[in-house]
Amino acid sequence: MKTTAEAVIIGAGIMGCAIAHALAERGLTEVVVLERDQIGRGATADAAGGVRQQFSTETNIRLARESVRVWETFAERFGRDIGLRQQGYLFLLTDPAEEPVFRANLALQNGLGVPSRWVSPEEIAALNPHVVRDDVIGGAFCPEDGWCDTYGATIGFAQAARALGVRIAEETPVTDILIEGDRVRGVRTARGDVNAPLVVIAAGPQTRGVGAMAGVELPIDPYRRMSFITEPFAALPQSLPMTIDFASGLYFHPESRGFLFGMGNRAEPSTTDKTVDESWMATTVEALVARVPAFAEASILRGWAGFYEVTPDDNPLLGWTGGADGLAVAAGFSGHGFMLGPAIGRCMAEMFLSGAVNDSGSDSDIDISPFRPSRFAEGDLAQEYNVI
Ligand SMILES: Cc1cc2nc3c(=O)[nH]c(=O)nc-3n(C[C@H](O)[C@H](O)[C@H](O)COP(=O)(O)OP(=O)(O)OC[C@H]3O[C@@H](n4cnc5c(N)ncnc54)[C@H](O)[C@@H]3O)c2cc1C
Repeated sequence: MKTTAEAVIIGAGIMGCAIAHALAERGLTEVVVLERDQIGRGATADAAGGVRQQFSTETNIRLARESVRVWETFAERFGRDIGLRQQGYLFLLTDPAEEPVFRANLALQNGLGVPSRWVSPEEIAALNPHVVRDDVIGGAFCPEDGWCDTYGATIGFAQAARALGVRIAEETPVTDILIEGDRVRGVRTARGDVNAPLVVIAAGPQTRGVGAMAGVELPIDPYRRMSFITEPFAALPQSLPMTIDFASGLYFHPESRGFLFGMGNRAEPSTTDKTVDESWMATTVEALVARVPAFAEASILRGWAGFYEVTPDDNPLLGWTGGADGLAVAAGFSGHGFMLGPAIGRCMAEMFLSGAVNDSGSDSDIDISPFRPSRFAEGDLAQEYNVI
């Protein structure tokens, strides 16, 4: 393993791999990514693969918009088919109080070039005729949204980064962050130290613990979320959009000739339990069949649990940690990180290469400073409303 580098990245999920690739693409090739497990096996592997541009914060909309252009052209750029299906995201709203909020967010999205729109119950019936609409007041739809293969996408970034000279060491947990004076000096692993003037924490749901190695508090906590896949069944067409019951958080989309579905248990406190909660699975299935009776004919093929990496305002920490100089973070995507990976990689790389060691912004045309880690101490939160 290399003992010196220009940058060390902790974690080889979508973020670590996208940042490493973006750095290498811009000429910083002496990059080492350290992964305690294997590439793309963390939260990224557990994601539902959803890719949407329907957010409430300008920064997320811009990040998502740039990223979707990369997902659309991934095969030609990275030589890998990620199975992108742009069948749209359809939000179903049942609470009249949500309508003005969604309409304002749609206006913001449209102003930034996202082709999302308000849909009436009649339009919802055309987009997804199978949902029970008795209580639905309307919704929002964006035809460019969809879903893809998260593992394939991460491997695509990793392979492209390696081809440019980046080293990715799997089965190599970082056990300490080394600091000299007020600067970061590198990291410690069981296989030896790696010295670098720039260390980026991209450790997903484990980020709080990794930050603690350097004495910084990064407010990111793991919350269990479960997803399930049905056996192939013909009662519902594979052409349906990703459909979300916004009030409950129930979602489903076609996957592997069956359907993928889930619903977060918002009452469950932060946990490191990664087992499937059978009782919540039953609650989820009940909600699913109530919303789409045709699911009564489906059987569950498998289910799994993973962790959302949740921050106090459901938005990530991007930038310098406020601890030792040269120590940065890109984590805490609160359940909507996979889809933003390409743009996060670019923005973080540009920020690092601009040489601004303690600047919270970046040279990029996307202003990521609303997500600066110091916002919590400053009381300047950037709440995301469209959280699933
Ligand atoms: C059920 C579920 C559904 C989701 N659905 C979606 C969705 O539809 N769309 C979407 O965009 N997002 C979704 N997400 C969220 C998405 O998965 C995350 O936001 C995203 O994958 C985070 O990527 P990451 O690289 O920050 O984290 P991770 O993928 O977790 O990567 C972090 C890596 O750091 C490694 N690591 C941790 N500690 C150390 C250490 N000490 N040393 C070395 N390595 C370390 C971990 O092993 C891991 O591989 C979902 C998440 C879940 C759980």
